[in-house]
Order: sequence, then structure tokens, then C-alpha cells
Amino acid sequence: MEIQVLSLGDPVLGEEEKGALIAVIESGWLTMGERVRAFENAFAQMHDVADAVAVCSCTAGLHLCLLALGIGEGDEVMVPALTFVATINAIMYVGATPVFVDIENSDTPHMSISDAAAKVSNKTRAVMVMHYGGYLVDLPSWRIFCDEHEFLLVEDAAHAPAVGEVGRWGDASAFSFFTNKNMTTAEGGMVFAKDASVLEWIRRLRAHGMTTGTLERHRGHAYSYDVTMLGYNYRMNELQASMGLVQLTRLRKWNSTRRDLSAHYRELLAQSVPLIKIPFSVSHDTAAHLMPILLPEGYSRQAVMDGLREAGIQSSIHYPPAHFFSFYMQKFPGISLPNTEDFCSRELTLPLHPGLDMQDVVRVVDGLARVLGKMSSE
Ligand SMILES: *Cc1c(COP(=O)(O)O)cnc(C)c1O
Repeated sequence: MEIQVLSLGDPVLGEEEKGALIAVIESGWLTMGERVRAFENAFAQMHDVADAVAVCSCTAGLHLCLLALGIGEGDEVMVPALTFVATINAIMYVGATPVFVDIENSDTPHMSISDAAAKVSNKTRAVMVMHYGGYLVDLPSWRIFCDEHEFLLVEDAAHAPAVGEVGRWGDASAFSFFTNKNMTTAEGGMVFAKDASVLEWIRRLRAHGMTTGTLERHRGHAYSYDVTMLGYNYRMNELQASMGLVQLTRLRKWNSTRRDLSAHYRELLAQSVPLIKIPFSVSHDTAAHLMPILLPEGYSRQAVMDGLREAGIQSSIHYPPAHFFSFYMQKFPGISLPNTEDFCSRELTLPLHPGLDMQDVVRVVDGLARVLGKMSSE
């Protein structure tokens, strides 16, 4: 009998996305046009900010945030090691040095303010927070910390669109529309900045530092342009934006489905496998991007993942600790982050996406209970 595989995270795509893509092709205008601008406006409006800049990825967005905020060579930026490497790479792209900060604890696996305070140096210029799993970090506290030290605050909001006051506390923030995120444009990102002039700087950096846009020139509103800085090609295209406009209309509903599924996981796991700990036991604003759990000590995570795979259930790890990847270990040797290392050694991510239903959650929890039960009796 063939069992249906429960995937970790699937995008929801349908007729509306198809129709939107066809309309772009029929229009004959493929990049940086009205749809990109409309998507920027709609995304900004949903988050209650004045404006936004669409880019080709969140990684590109984080790079531009740091550039436009003037962070570079000789500067240090605090960052969690419990993140996707893009967060760290953006710091390195501008020539600054990432300073890895431990997480608070295994229940709140967010960057620890007290560990950050202990790592302040006369080179520290900024803090890059990451809303792990969609659970918002304590933004007001980070804002106070940054203001006290005159640091800039950047939010890596890749996991957390359309929740709480995400993107509104950072001096700049970046979102991701990669395929496995809460909404997708295949590849894509969006940037906010507190200061309108910083956002305009980002808009210009996105397209080679040129002073006029492609569409303006095409329409004859502008005949020439100047280049005022070393820019990049980090543009979003109209196909991406057209999908984004459709996906955006469903984002809040999807986030809410993700939260409901997460709550169901919490309830069932507490009943069936109480040995398993679930981070964020205290209620947080969340976009519920991931469903992370912590295996009890002494269980082989690989064996659990193998057992789940045999039952047709995908699982993953978010994340291997970044300071242990060989590239960063060579550059920044000897770093020890005990809480991060313990968390990363036991974390397992279960399937979570709006295409699942409550029965799927039951199936995952039953599968997990069976796998763990078998292991403890062996
Ligand atoms: C996905 C992700 C990114 C990168 O997003 P892209 O749009 O793929 O560049 C950055 N940070 C975190 C935490 C992510 O999960």
C-alpha cells in the first residue's frame, strides 16, 4: 500500500496564481513594473508601514539593509547562531564581523539579551534579530537595548510575515518569499526601513544605483539617468510580484491555520509523548512558520528521523548551529554557545503548512509516539 507522504512544508498554489502569471505574460512587461509597485504597497499596508522595497530574495534584502544603514568594515554585528546562514552572510557581505550570541534557553530559543550585553565591544554597531520559527522576539526589549547602546536594530523577518508588530521596531527589516516560507513568490523578498531616506537608498541600491526606474524610462517620463553609488541587480520581477499579490490576500488566513495546527500539535504531544518538550510554552505572537520540538536526551535524532520517514513523515532540523559549519569555524574558531549547541543537538522540525489538517497532525504525533516507544523498549 502506498502511503501519502506528509511533507515538511508545501506552498499553496492554484488557479489564481496561474491566472496572475498568465496575465503578466500577456501584458508583455516582465520586470519592475506596476505589479512590483502594487505588491510593495500592499505588503507595506498589511504591516502598517509607509512603504517597502521588493527585492529578489531576503538575503539580498538583508545585504541592502546593512549597506544602507552604513554598516561595514571594522564593525561588529550581533547575530544568533541559531539561524539560517543567510542572516550571517549578509553581515559578511558588507565586510562587518558577525558576533555569535547564544539563545536564552531551550524554551525561548531567541537570541539572549544578557549574552548580547556581555559581548558588547567598542566595535559593535548593530544587532540582527531573527524571529525563529515565526515566534516574534521581544522587540520592545531589543529596541531599548539598542537605543541605550546606540546600536542599529535589524530584523530578519523571513519566518514572520503579517504577525504582531513585525518589521516596525527594526531600523530595517527583511522578509522572504522563498518557496518554503509562509507565502511565496518562488524567490523574493521585501525590505522595510524606519527612515524614509534609508528606504530610498535601498530602492536605488536594488537597481545599480540608477536614479530613474526602467518603467519611467520606457514610458518616456525620464530620458536619462545618473549612477550615484555602487548598486546591485537585486530586482524583483513582475511574475514574482503577481504571485505575491495573490498569496498576500491569503497570508493572514494561512498564518491562522498554522497557529491552529501548532496548538493541536502542542495538545496532542503533551498527551501522547510528554517526554518531548515544545519551545515557546509561553504564548508569543507567532506566524507559526515552523513546528520545532525537542527530543529527550539520549535518543538518536537520526534514528527518530529515519523512523518517521518510514512512516511517510518528513522531518528536518532548524538549524545546525552556524558556528560549527566549517566556513565559519575556520573564520571564527573557538566559539562556544552552550544553550544553542544543546538546542541544536535535540531539535526536530515536524511538518507544518496550511495544506495539513487536524488528522495529519494526529498521524504525525502517533508516528512519533510509536517511533519513540520502539526506541525506549529496545
Ligand atoms: C529563508 C531564510 C532567509 C533567506 O531567505 P531567501 O529569500 O531565500 O534569501 C534568511 N533568513 C532566514 C531565517 C530564513 O529562514
